[in-house]
Amino acid sequence: MAKQVQLYINGEFIDSASKNMIPVTNPATQEIIAQVPCATAEEVNTAVASAKAVFHEWKETPVSERARVMMRYQALLKEHHDEIAEILATETGKTFDDAKGDVWRGIEVVEHAANVPSLLMGESLENVARGIDTYSYTQPLGVCAGITPFNFPAMIPLWMFPLSIACGNTFILKPSEQDPLTPTRLVELFEQAGAPKGVLQVIHGGKDQVDMLLDHPDIRALSFVGSVPVGQYIYRRGTENMKRVQAFAGAKNHCVIMPDADKNQVINNLVGASVGAAGQRCMAISCAVFVGKAKEWIPELAEALAKVRPGAWDDKDAGYGPLISPQAKDRVLSMIQQGKDEGADCLVDGTECQVEGFPDGNWVGPTFFSKVTADMEIYKNEIFGPVLCGMEAESLEEAIALVNANPFGNGTSIFTANGAAARKYQHEVEVGQVGINVPIPVPLPFFSFTGWKNSFYGDLHAYGKQAVRFYSETKTITARWPEAGIAQGPNMTIELK
Ligand code: NAD
Repeated sequence: MAKQVQLYINGEFIDSASKNMIPVTNPATQEIIAQVPCATAEEVNTAVASAKAVFHEWKETPVSERARVMMRYQALLKEHHDEIAEILATETGKTFDDAKGDVWRGIEVVEHAANVPSLLMGESLENVARGIDTYSYTQPLGVCAGITPFNFPAMIPLWMFPLSIACGNTFILKPSEQDPLTPTRLVELFEQAGAPKGVLQVIHGGKDQVDMLLDHPDIRALSFVGSVPVGQYIYRRGTENMKRVQAFAGAKNHCVIMPDADKNQVINNLVGASVGAAGQRCMAISCAVFVGKAKEWIPELAEALAKVRPGAWDDKDAGYGPLISPQAKDRVLSMIQQGKDEGADCLVDGTECQVEGFPDGNWVGPTFFSKVTADMEIYKNEIFGPVLCGMEAESLEEAIALVNANPFGNGTSIFTANGAAARKYQHEVEVGQVGINVPIPVPLPFFSFTGWKNSFYGDLHAYGKQAVRFYSETKTITARWPEAGIAQGPNMTIELK
């Protein structure tokens, strides 16, 4: 019997009383490596009650002490980087280097969280009126919660709980049921870093457990990362329950290729950005828009894509791993079939992909369509697999119009040698994260992760200064300390002089 993943409630790892288990599988073999419980209502309520009970003490813990927990945590994560990456690779199928990257991007957010004292500083101005000063403080909200997707089981939980907790909140994490072992290890190390009991709690499960968090009156703010339908649902139900919600959702990211770009750079970058991590990245390039003569590079790009070979996580020559589940594989295969039926030109077809020694893996080979048009389903939907859609435009203006008409707005990039074209693109494109000769423009944590349109519901984004605002309230104080007593008589106006 595979081991049962434990809940983490009030500083203790405990077995759930639930009989409802979801198997966690190795996606290269289908071997069941763990069973994840769907926490009972009582367990979820206990976790929230415990997070609420320790909030006051944690909020009163000096900010420098809270920051020091993050410093120790960063050091521990670095010390255990390879070990975490191996757990992550086993349950997601990511190649070892890619798994290390997943962990590393999370470590960078913990580093950012260690800077929380300066991030939390408010504003002040003296003499806003005669003898009156105004200043603001940033205070934590209370109990916050995070619901995370399968595709970055280290990075995305680390986008959420370290910053929220560093701000003085307590936090309930509900990781993806498809890969809960990586977050479990992250939480063990957080405890080892000296985080007091109860500031972080972990409950497992799926929709029912998420609903319990969405409806719980003691949860003040909720961060979500995942697909569009679930993101919309969570945003609606969370805000209906008067919570602060940020919901990061799906994507269709375009790369615009100008004919003056460096051809080799374009091809090398597009290969990695489209099929890397089996295309299971919210910032993957899933659509390449060739402007004018750049379309002449399509055959060479097809050749380069066809050379990429998926494989097991510890195969050093593998370009990427399997899809997360047989259901995800079936979905991607049916989208590929749909693209063929719709009349797109399938130049590289990954549907018959086999990996020696792993007959049961969820493999899909690199797939490249050209002649994709905006009315096709393979263009309109996020495929979330190693599939690149090739499109053509006559001019930069036409390419910008195409990208802007797309309902998603997570990331985009332009490859060009022309500064004016790049400037026009960055200014006019309606997408939240833009790369110029950079294929996947994920900002480092001192900036924020700023998806737009159907890729994000809410206003304050992940990490950077925006996340600190999301996880806190601002209190503004107006103070007068008269030297010789307050002026005589009531003041009947609102005017301050
Ligand atoms: P998902 O929406 O299926 O699941 C995400 C989380 O929501 C999981 O914890 C899951 O248990 C929970 N959930 C699933 N169904 C639910 C329901 N009906 N009600 C309430 N909760 C539910 O997403 P996924 O397949 O794990 O992740 C892939 C998706 O995440 C892709 O669409 C990808 O683009 C997106 N993503 C977006 C970003 C971003 O920053 N915009 C980053 C990473 C992933």
